[in-house]
Amino acid sequence: MFSSFAEKEPNMDKSNAYLLWFEQLERKDVDIVGGKSSSLGEMTSKTDVPVPYGFATTAHAYRYFIDQTGLREKMRSILAELTDVENSELLSSVCVRLRGAIMEQEMPQDLQDAIRRAYEELAHKMNEDEPYVAVRSSATAEDLPDASFAGQQDTYLNVHGADQVIRKVKECYASCFTDRAVYYREKQGYDHLSLALSAVVQMMVFSKAAGVMFTVNVANGDDKNIMIEGAYGLGEYVVGGIVTPDSYVVSKDEMKLISVSVNEQDKMLIRKPGGDTMEVPVPEADRRKQTLTNAQILELAGYAKKIEAHYGCYMDMEWGIDERDGKIWILQARPETVWSRRNKEKKNEEEQTAGSMEGAKVLLKGLPASPGQGYGKAHVIRDPKDIDEFKDGEILVTEMTAPDWVPAMKKAQAIVTDSGGMTCHASIVSRELGIPCIVGTKSRGEAATEVLKGGEEITVDASNGVVFAGNLQVKKAEAAAAPAQAAAVVETFPVTGTKIYMNLGDPSLADKYASLPCDGIGLMREEFIWTTYIHEHPLYLLKTGHPEKVVEALAEGFRKVAQAMAPRPVTLRFSDFKSSEYRDLKGGEEFEPHEPSALLGWRGASRYYDPKYTAAFRLEVQAVRKVREEYGLKNLNVMIPFCRTVDECAKVVSIMEEEGLHRGPDFKVWLMAEIPANIILADKFNQYVDGYSIGSNDLTMLTLGCDRDNDVISHLFDERNLAVRRAVRHLIEVAHRDGKTVSLCGQAASVYPEFAEFLVESGIDSMSVNPDAVKFTKKMVAQVEQRIILDKLTGRGRNKNDEELAW
Ligand code: PEP
Ligand code: MG
Repeated sequence: MFSSFAEKEPNMDKSNAYLLWFEQLERKDVDIVGGKSSSLGEMTSKTDVPVPYGFATTAHAYRYFIDQTGLREKMRSILAELTDVENSELLSSVCVRLRGAIMEQEMPQDLQDAIRRAYEELAHKMNEDEPYVAVRSSATAEDLPDASFAGQQDTYLNVHGADQVIRKVKECYASCFTDRAVYYREKQGYDHLSLALSAVVQMMVFSKAAGVMFTVNVANGDDKNIMIEGAYGLGEYVVGGIVTPDSYVVSKDEMKLISVSVNEQDKMLIRKPGGDTMEVPVPEADRRKQTLTNAQILELAGYAKKIEAHYGCYMDMEWGIDERDGKIWILQARPETVWSRRNKEKKNEEEQTAGSMEGAKVLLKGLPASPGQGYGKAHVIRDPKDIDEFKDGEILVTEMTAPDWVPAMKKAQAIVTDSGGMTCHASIVSRELGIPCIVGTKSRGEAATEVLKGGEEITVDASNGVVFAGNLQVKKAEAAAAPAQAAAVVETFPVTGTKIYMNLGDPSLADKYASLPCDGIGLMREEFIWTTYIHEHPLYLLKTGHPEKVVEALAEGFRKVAQAMAPRPVTLRFSDFKSSEYRDLKGGEEFEPHEPSALLGWRGASRYYDPKYTAAFRLEVQAVRKVREEYGLKNLNVMIPFCRTVDECAKVVSIMEEEGLHRGPDFKVWLMAEIPANIILADKFNQYVDGYSIGSNDLTMLTLGCDRDNDVISHLFDERNLAVRRAVRHLIEVAHRDGKTVSLCGQAASVYPEFAEFLVESGIDSMSVNPDAVKFTKKMVAQVEQRIILDKLTGRGRNKNDEELAW
């Protein structure tokens, strides 16, 4: 049966074969035939899902062609002329010549013969004289984060006859050198001559309907259902976003169809009689009809489930239904990596937790504000004056934390509070410190300070927002001990165009987190230094003749972070304490007003130029100068929080100037965009700053009128609300018009991956996330960016939401 080449010898060396049948391939052969071919091989050789028959030319065949014909040298000299990849005329002319050089060359005769024999064998298998086949490229550029970018993704359909197949294999080779592919590799710093291409030659499926399916919801990671999208005709129009397909959802557990959304389709791509493809209108009677029958949907879902079970991770698949016999074929299957990895880690943690918590008594529930588990003795603190009694390793139980609680919070195994939402003090600080934390127990049943007794042993499962009685961590510690070896694997991270910064205010954590793959610090909250190191009110220190205490301590904190992160930039945010928080510092009572609503009161910029406070602000500026000039850490930049008016912004910038801090190429001044006025008047604020960092916590509060600390309305506090997203989009547009950059440093990007995706789609320049979200965000953003580049280069816009986001 496999007589013409690479016979199925048990010990054959696959890497020296020109061609391999799918039956001979497995997923580990990715170096030999690329991702697409090896995946088709894996499904054919290891599962019983229906995959159209076929074979793949190997990377060895590609190199043989390039070397035997002298193409390598020729291509090298053409590529040397590409001195500026941004020059699209030059790029295009270089690529035309590269592709021409490939197409001009005859393939070596023995390679041609091998392809010819394989095609004949395929004909024999299919019982046809000259069957129609699809020829697709399958790149083997291992170093690229997404190898599909190495070669064009175009597929040649309806290829007919051995000569045509040989020509199309060469066209696949040439398609590695489209403008798009060359541009992408240049940007990734990848050597054009070290990639190799495999071509898949596969029985053609004449799809009357086709589409894609996923075993995870890629927008939010929900893996309970199979998502299927389908449209009439060949699948290219679904994959390319040219039609809006129907979408169907099938539950994995019960294999039940749980949702059907039919979308009107007016055109489809079909095969022309005798070859090639063409677009035709969908018959009027079918346009509004469900494209697939329920039985077909369930059959597809069954294959999806099998494929996922075989690969052991979420999958992204293409399928088609043949018009000749109505048979369903799986055309492609790729592992989905981002959610697979994230949910696996989460599941491991949950399994360990569930194992150890089985049968345990639930004491309380609340909002899971900072993930992880902590065990210890509960220590209930009702009055802040008792805070010094809190001991290392205990569980801090309180009504709500405040900045002066930070030293105690750092000692805690876990934190549980009565009130608060996802952006309250306890949530933000514990997430930054990496301490498990549950907030808002009161609005979910009972207050922690009422239910938990001092000295009682408890386990806090903050990933799920549950407090259990007793020590349930013993078993978990044993279970966790096993996979220690796995840590030896070096994790790699893609380069992203959108910079991924980290939120880090506590200088004592700078060394620990400096090795994370972030591009710098996007938000260093100065308040950490006040509560951990200074403890005294700045005006009190000025009054008592010790302003140097402020400058020294602040400068030391800034230095630690700037030094640990250098040469990456660090954005220090000047102090944004509220009056109630300043009052808690020693001597604060004398200087701080009692305000009805401190969150909306004397905070941020309004203090900096106020004659009652400006002397204290000047100390902050002096500390920045000290670090930049005396310690030479020029990577330290600053940010102004809570700035209500353009006039305030101008005043603060001019005080900095008076203190010797001049905005320029080497020193950036950012504005927190966290009051709707910042966005509505961005065209006016632009002149005073280098750009913005969106404070989504305050911005959501002020856009929706939802007190961020009030757990009673925490269900209404949602950064994903259209009003907030519109504001973000608008700011990016207005800032970019004047060459100003936009970042985001509120919790939204750390908590909601779909919000981070929206930010990338909106063209944000960077985002700053909590330390525990850096790795995931980096990878996810890379994936979103690749999709956007692909859409742009192919002219396919997929931003379905653009219209509703228009202001
Ligand atoms: C914000 O408002 O989103 C922000 C980052 O600042 P803070 O949470 O410190 O007010
Ligand atoms: Mg804020």
